[in-house]
Amino acid sequence: MKQLLFIALLSLNFVAMAGDVNNNASPQPTIDEKVEKLLRQMTLEEKVGQLNQYDWNAVRSKTRDALLQREIKEGKVGSFLNIDGAKAIKDLQKIAVEQSRLGIPIIFGLDVIHGYKTVFPVPLAEAASWDIEAIEKSARIAAIEASAAGINWTFAPMVDIARDPRWGRIMEGAGEDPYLGSLIAAARVRGFQGANLAQPDTILACAKHYAAYGAAEAGREYNTADMSLIRLWEVYLPPFKAAVDAGVGSVMLGFNELNGIPTSANKYLVTDVLKNKWRFPGFTVSDYGSFSELINHGYAADRAGAAELSINAGGDMDMQSRIYIEYLPGLVRNGRVKEDQINDSVRRILTMKFKLGLFDDPYRYCSEQREKELLLAPDHIKAAREIARKCIVLLKNDGRLLPLKKDIKTIAVIGSLADSKVDILGGWAAQGDREAPVSLLQALKERLGDNTAILYEPGYKQYGYTTDEMIDLAVHAAKQADLTILAIGENGNMSGECASRADIGLPHDQPKLADAIAKLNKPTVVVLMNGRPLTIKAVHDGFPAILETWFLGTQAGPAVTDVLFGDYNPSGKLPVTFPLVLGQVPIYYAQKNTGRPAPPVNPPWGTSKYSDVPNDPLYPFGFGLSYTTFEYSDVNLSADKIKMGQSLQVSTTVKNAGSVAGEEVVQLYIRDLVASVTKPVKELRGFQKISLKPGEAKNVTFTLTTADLAFYDNDMNFKAEPGKFKVFVGADSKAVKEASFYLE
Ligand code: BGC
Repeated sequence: MKQLLFIALLSLNFVAMAGDVNNNASPQPTIDEKVEKLLRQMTLEEKVGQLNQYDWNAVRSKTRDALLQREIKEGKVGSFLNIDGAKAIKDLQKIAVEQSRLGIPIIFGLDVIHGYKTVFPVPLAEAASWDIEAIEKSARIAAIEASAAGINWTFAPMVDIARDPRWGRIMEGAGEDPYLGSLIAAARVRGFQGANLAQPDTILACAKHYAAYGAAEAGREYNTADMSLIRLWEVYLPPFKAAVDAGVGSVMLGFNELNGIPTSANKYLVTDVLKNKWRFPGFTVSDYGSFSELINHGYAADRAGAAELSINAGGDMDMQSRIYIEYLPGLVRNGRVKEDQINDSVRRILTMKFKLGLFDDPYRYCSEQREKELLLAPDHIKAAREIARKCIVLLKNDGRLLPLKKDIKTIAVIGSLADSKVDILGGWAAQGDREAPVSLLQALKERLGDNTAILYEPGYKQYGYTTDEMIDLAVHAAKQADLTILAIGENGNMSGECASRADIGLPHDQPKLADAIAKLNKPTVVVLMNGRPLTIKAVHDGFPAILETWFLGTQAGPAVTDVLFGDYNPSGKLPVTFPLVLGQVPIYYAQKNTGRPAPPVNPPWGTSKYSDVPNDPLYPFGFGLSYTTFEYSDVNLSADKIKMGQSLQVSTTVKNAGSVAGEEVVQLYIRDLVASVTKPVKELRGFQKISLKPGEAKNVTFTLTTADLAFYDNDMNFKAEPGKFKVFVGADSKAVKEASFYLE
């Protein structure tokens, strides 16, 4: 009977389509009309069912399968997360479509954060490429693979700005800057969702975690955020707004509280800003169990209260806390929740299911043929390597030790991270293939063949623990070699969710190992692997060459060797500041001047400084070297005064003064010198990644509009104010040339 109903629904569709072909007057119903029609047929329980999402791993078991199937048949499951594979998903979808009364298809979500089977660099690493097209492509390929395995919704992009490297999830975002973060947020949304969600190779994206989750106090996971509205709107919200403007279909509400209200039930954030002010047409989903966590926050007294607060704040789908399915029907019946509120949530979810084409063909993402062809496809692996090498940041290269000559006789490779296939996938590789990755050691062996002897010593065990014997063996290998590659850093699971660290140095005994190798004073290249900025002053001082390679995914090894041997000239730039010592945190380039700014050299008593360390970081935001050198001309402005509404051209000439071709990220910053609220000393407002042949010079021009100069004033008006502005252009947030102009 239920099957018949579904067929009847489908036939209605066909009739409408046939009508079109026959040039009949009745036009095809719009998605809105289809949603309304379906909504009218739904019982309250079925509506609430659409708002209910289960974690397949958590709910599934042999004993409970029958129960689960019954819930699907009763229309009580709108979505699953954590199940993948074309066949497995098709089987579940079949139950929903063929055996539930209305045959509403399920939407299947998964954390496809930086690749599905082919794993791309962790998001923080990708941000270091400053290559928006490459980032979009990475998300596109992730969507192609995930959608071939039945998935139609990813819980990405994570667009939280993070300025505290203790917080492990800094690895999942684009770093500290809202301008760069916004461009990347939009690029990832475009990549996942493509031009048309109904295409079988696109998936719904989810901007998360709304909002200010990255501002967790003391960098401790799930901790409280408390900040001014100006900071919220200028730093933490822009990437979400950019994702919404790029058409993101869903938004995940955070675990954290913000200014006293948990974000999962924050009516101001969810309904007033996201849904009303920004006119976000998609749906919101809680984070894992976050609706029921309102009780722990001390915001709801019990589960029913948590459900009431969450839905009334605008939370549409309940991820795994089961409070909607258990309490919402009762809350509607006793008048605590209006059915209209539920209808709004259901509408939003059904609309996305229609947009994904699930009503036209619920199995559209379940082709085992596509799955076989597309997962780990050769062109995906190739793209993973190309993107990975763009993410590598050259932090130091004294005496031009890099790139390495290809005829070195003996290389010592030290560090168990060099031999790991798993760590290079990072902490959010989810379903990433664990066999496909090529480690650094393997890639070096493949590249060097028999011409170079490789002496490998692990040097340390997991998490950096070591023994004197392991260090001795490593030192012995380094002594025998012409060159040492020292792979150090964090294990892949030391960053990501619930991976906050109170000490962001090299883990455990790794400093001891690094020190022993440094003392040999032999040519050594440090290859860092990590998901967050580390405090590595001793490494910086102790070694001539350092490459920041983050966690680069399936093709990490080949990508790093491409850079080591100069087949690719590094072009990455840090999307986040590397502190000198942890005590400087939070440290970010867009700081305020203060009433007592400290000069960088010999700051006197009475200025804003530390008595024991400088204010400057080890490596500033935007920093990254190349195998060539770039020379910047002075900054040219098209005018020294502009009027409101006018724009200004800012230009510079960049010359490749070295002997190899290279790419440079030319960065543009502004400073509003006097305003009705104080402004940061620098704010990124543009960048261009250019490539230059040896000796070649290019003119780079940016257009600054009045909107680029605008900010939130004390009454939360977004506007530019007349006055003097500085413009800075350069290779990073410190190495800049400047000019100034007036806005009248
Ligand atoms: C994380 C989210 C993730 C969700 C589903 C939560 O613990 O905070 O980022 O999407 O789990 O796996």
